[in-house]
Amino acid sequence: MTKARVLVTGAGGFIGHHLVKRLRAEGHWVRGVDIKVPEYDSTAANEFDLLDLRKYDNCLLATRGQIDHVFNLAADMGGIGYITASHADISRNNVLINAQMLEASRQNGVSRFLYSSSACVYAQYKQRLPEVAPLREEDAYPADPEPGYGWEKLFTEELCRYYWQDYHFETRIVRFHNVYGPLGTYEGGKEKAPAAICRKVALAPAGSEIEIWGDGEQTRSFMYVDDCVEGLIRLMASTYTEPLNLGTDRLLSINELVDMVSVIGGKRLIKRHDLTKPQGVRGRNSDNRRLRDVLGWEPCVPLEEGLSLTYHWVESQLRQAGRIHAYVAHGAA
Ligand code: NAD
Repeated sequence: MTKARVLVTGAGGFIGHHLVKRLRAEGHWVRGVDIKVPEYDSTAANEFDLLDLRKYDNCLLATRGQIDHVFNLAADMGGIGYITASHADISRNNVLINAQMLEASRQNGVSRFLYSSSACVYAQYKQRLPEVAPLREEDAYPADPEPGYGWEKLFTEELCRYYWQDYHFETRIVRFHNVYGPLGTYEGGKEKAPAAICRKVALAPAGSEIEIWGDGEQTRSFMYVDDCVEGLIRLMASTYTEPLNLGTDRLLSINELVDMVSVIGGKRLIKRHDLTKPQGVRGRNSDNRRLRDVLGWEPCVPLEEGLSLTYHWVESQLRQAGRIHAYVAHGAA
C-alpha cells in the first residue's frame, strides 16, 4: 500500500489492535474506532474514537476527513458459546454496524472497504464429518450458514457485492478461519477455543482434569494473528472483490489441540468432555487454492510456534493477576 489514511473499526478488539500496530509500523495514518479501548495494551493509532457504530451518525463521524481505506472489523462476536446464545442481539447489532458503515463510507468518499466475514458462512450440511473436505469459496451456497452470526455475515457479503455492482464502491471480503494469538480475549465468555484451552491448561495443576466442550473430535484449522494481518493487507492491496478464505489448511481435532497446548505448558492433564456444551460444526477446514492464486501467498506461521507464543502470553497474564499461584496452592491443599 502507498501511504494512506486508514480507518480500522473494531480497533479495541483482537485482530483490529494487531492490524493498527502493523499499519502504523508501515507509516500509514490510522484512526481506530471501537466501543471500548484495547484491553491488554494501549493502541498505536494516531487517533482513537470511542463510538457505537450501530448508530449511523457515529459511522459518519468514524469515516470523516478523507479516509482512503476502511478495515471494518467491528462486530458483536465471541466463541461458539457466545454466538449460539443470542442470535437476535448478535444479528441485529452486526446488521446495523455493517450496513451503516458501508453507506457512511460511500457517502464520505472512502476508496476501499474491507469486510471481515467468517468461515461461519459455510453451509452446515458440508461440515458434518470431522474429516471434512476443505471448504472452497463457492461452498457457502446453497446457503445454510451458522444461525444468527453466520447468516448476518453471508448477508453482508451480498450487501458488499451490491455496493460494488450498483455504485462501483470498491469492497473486499475476507472469510477468516479461527484466528488466535496474544492479546486475544481469554476469559469472560467471548473467548474462542485456542485462548480458552491455553487458559485452562495454564490454570490446571499438573495431573488434574480440564473440561473440553463436546467430545473433542470436532476439527478445525487455526491461523496465527500475524498471518491474518498480512493477509488483510495483501487483500486490501489486491483488486479482488469476491469473498476469499483466509486461514490455514492444517486440520486437527480439539483433542489434538489440547494435547499440543499441554505439551507447551509441560503438563499431563486428563480431559473431561462435557457433551452438553456447544461444539459448532463437526469439521471445518479452509481450501486455500484461491487464496494462493489471488494473493500469491498463504499463512505460514507453524501452529506449534503460534500456540507457544499465545500460551505463554495467557500464562503471563494469569500469573501477573496472581491466579496461577493461588489456584495451584488451593489444588494442593
Ligand atoms: P473482537 O471481539 O476482539 O473485536 C471486535 C471489536 O468490535 C470489539 O473490540 C468490540 O468492542 C467491537 N464492537 C462491537 N460492537 C461494536 C459497536 N457497536 N461499535 C463499535 N465497535 C464495536 O473480535 P476479533 O476476533 O478481533 O474479530 C474481528 C472481526 O473478524 C469480526 O468482524 C469477527 O466477526 C471477524 N472474525 C473473527 C474470527 C476470529 O477467529 N477471531 C473468525 C471469523 C471472523
